[in-house]
Amino acid sequence: MIEEKFDAIVIGAGMAGNAAALTMAKRGLKVLQLERGEYPGSKNVQGAILYADMLEKIVPDFREEAPLERHIVEQRFWMMNDSSHVGLQYRSDDFNEEKPNRYTIVRAQFDKWFSKEVQKAGAVVLCETTVIELVQDPQGKVLGVRTDRKGGEVHADVVVLAEGVNGLLGSRAGLRERPAPENVALAVKEMHFLPRETIEARFNLNGDEGVVIEAAGTISKGMTGVGFIYTNKESISIGLGCLVSDLKKSGQTPYGLLEAFKRHPSVVPLLEGSEVKEYAAHLIPEGGYNAIPQLYGDGWVVVGDAAQLNNAVHREGSNLAMTSGRIAGEAIFQIKSRKDPFTAENLKLYKKMLDDSFVIKDLKKYKDMPALLHTSSKNFFLTYPELIAKAMQTYVRVDGVPKIDKEKATVKSFKSARSLAGLVGDAFRFARAWR
Ligand SMILES: Cc1cc2nc3c(=O)[nH]c(=O)nc-3n(C[C@H](O)[C@H](O)[C@H](O)COP(=O)(O)OP(=O)(O)OC[C@H]3O[C@@H](n4cnc5c(N)ncnc54)[C@H](O)[C@@H]3O)c2cc1C
Repeated sequence: MIEEKFDAIVIGAGMAGNAAALTMAKRGLKVLQLERGEYPGSKNVQGAILYADMLEKIVPDFREEAPLERHIVEQRFWMMNDSSHVGLQYRSDDFNEEKPNRYTIVRAQFDKWFSKEVQKAGAVVLCETTVIELVQDPQGKVLGVRTDRKGGEVHADVVVLAEGVNGLLGSRAGLRERPAPENVALAVKEMHFLPRETIEARFNLNGDEGVVIEAAGTISKGMTGVGFIYTNKESISIGLGCLVSDLKKSGQTPYGLLEAFKRHPSVVPLLEGSEVKEYAAHLIPEGGYNAIPQLYGDGWVVVGDAAQLNNAVHREGSNLAMTSGRIAGEAIFQIKSRKDPFTAENLKLYKKMLDDSFVIKDLKKYKDMPALLHTSSKNFFLTYPELIAKAMQTYVRVDGVPKIDKEKATVKSFKSARSLAGLVGDAFRFARAWR
């Protein structure tokens, strides 16, 4: 056993773990961070959009050194059928601000930089070290961790579980259940490399400007799922994810869906001539508020994806991870400063502070996220995209058919596929689930 006792041990060097470790180390706490990957970020997957506001609260001047790709000036939403897409596009020069709001990043590079900040602040960071189990006393109080290193038991006043959505430690120790298949999506992602001038010409970009595309429709074959295309400096990230329970039922494979997405006529010209260099698959917690487990106990707190803190509707995860990590670090510092013990009663402060933040306020809007995402999903992901695409084609095609006949044909096609009353009903059900 390592004799030295730490104030805090952080398990995992992803967004949540780095935020927690940095917050505590900056305030002078003795922190040990353990990461199973070869280096921080080697195991981590994200689209990836970084939300600046949440990082700025941890590293105010991060723009000076963090490896950022492009700041996002344009957001496109595509509703797709098999041969077309209907789009909504928002582009604003306001996003070319001095301190841009969102950036694309590459996690393998970003996490390495974030971890260097943690080390500069004084934390001890050990990579290639897997925590195998939590060390608990007979009453369940967490005393430390056991790692796969020789003599690798280490003790601390408090353990921060930042082990991500796949983390087994919390469930093995009986602190939370493993996420149910209807509460997690499985996403796959590829990185397609192209010269930066090609990317800028294809997406109408100047310098470091970037575009993100979120796509839904027949690409998910009637399952609840979304595709994405994000521009980096010299690569394009493309991916797609669906709920695990839906994939299981349908027998579809995520990589099969991604292949079809890449072959879509709207996507082919964007990727043409690119070289695929990276491929990754990862789970995303999408259970919403009701799926959040117990967040603290005697000697432990859980943060980030491991705590199911992910807002699937708004495509936000890393910012909730960073914020929960930061807040956990601040709560631990307050308790330590008062020289109070790390009992569940005292660590309740973390939950209280998190409840007051956007993290829980936003997730409370989506109490039962799977129910919301499944509201008439066949209609929203198959029938309506087909009907809307057909209506658009009828509208824009100039072929001598009188406009009044076109309007009648469009109304008829909506009626024949699904009554207008049904459509209103779906919209109503969706709005009710949203509340
Ligand atoms: C395809 C995809 C696209 C996404 N896109 C976006 C996006 O664009 N924007 C956004 O904000 N979010 C996005 N997300 C979500 C985002 O990636 C996560 O919310 C975020 O990474 C969670 O951070 P975390 O620190 O909780 O977990 P992770 O980043 O997963 O980090 C967990 C860390 O713990 C380590 N670990 C696990 N177990 C152990 C152990 N026993 N011992 C030691 N170390 C361990 C892992 O190796 C890992 O480094 C996306 C997710 C996916 C899968």
